[in-house]
Amino acid sequence: MEKDSKILILGGNGLLGSAINRELKKHNYQNILSPRSKEVNLLNKNSIDNLLKSEKPDNLFMVAGLVGGIMGNKKRQADFLYQNSIMILNLLESAKENSLGSKILYTGSSCIYPKINPQPIKEERFMKGELEETNKGYAVAKGMGIVACQLYREQYGIDANCAMPTNLYGLKDTYDLENGHMIPGLIKKFLLAKRDGTDITLWGTGNPRREALYSEDCADALIYLMKNYSSPEIVNIGTGFDYSIKEFAEILKKELKININLKWDLSKPDGTFEKRTDISRLKNIYPEFSPRSFEKGLSEIINNKDELKRILG
Ligand code: GDP
Repeated sequence: MEKDSKILILGGNGLLGSAINRELKKHNYQNILSPRSKEVNLLNKNSIDNLLKSEKPDNLFMVAGLVGGIMGNKKRQADFLYQNSIMILNLLESAKENSLGSKILYTGSSCIYPKINPQPIKEERFMKGELEETNKGYAVAKGMGIVACQLYREQYGIDANCAMPTNLYGLKDTYDLENGHMIPGLIKKFLLAKRDGTDITLWGTGNPRREALYSEDCADALIYLMKNYSSPEIVNIGTGFDYSIKEFAEILKKELKININLKWDLSKPDGTFEKRTDISRLKNIYPEFSPRSFEKGLSEIINNKDELKRILG
């Protein structure tokens, strides 16, 4: 990928896509396209055909998808299965027909590994066990997408590559308390409690463990992989360390200087107990990769006026 390569980001306005866009601009890439979903509907093959036929991008980040937190996933399993499957199949089929030369980087997610794994999770665990019930639709679709990239590479020579990011957070996140992810959900609940003095109720037991990767750090790794990696083997992108939900809550209390007793809603699911990624493959490819701490990422969010406006309205 050169500074004047034509780079297409599908999903370029979401949490990860917008971070890729910012990182590329920071490093002086000049020819970036990131069409909105209104302009290019990935569920419609004609729409993606028209885009690839006319633009023929050199590099393509495929980070679009229907995403959500544990409850968002659980309630709409069929939608998550359908939309995430069709989008990547349309893209690969269209690349085969219209833009064979594009290098593609597709993102799966650490939550599509089996429910139970030796920790940390190595890439070899992909498709090696039963899935977590709360996100089965998403996991089957994303897993299929990864296999599809491998098969289109093998049969048609498409340079399709896959990465497995862990739980992400960052600017332009979705702060939907019902359907969003845990980290933006916690950030919003703590900020509301600080502003309005309301109680905080978190979900489940608080014992499950999660990693937290800042979106810009994930974007940095993806750009590095786009430049330096081509292989059917997937690559985890994580921090390599995790916290329990209770520990996340303690960090938020400390960073936001708020002392409050938490309530736990045990009717909500815990989901996968732990899913810490093994990032040794990534570190072999990109030894300088060094993701920021959760405290640092959090301070960038709570000190960003625009983001605070998005969170609190
Ligand atoms: P997951 O990592 O794919 O399971 O999805 P999430 O990012 O939604 O994290 C879910 C985990 O966080 C579960 O163990 C939940 O019980 C726990 N959790 C605690 N409070 C919240 C909350 O306010 N929102 C969400 N989404 N999850 C929460």
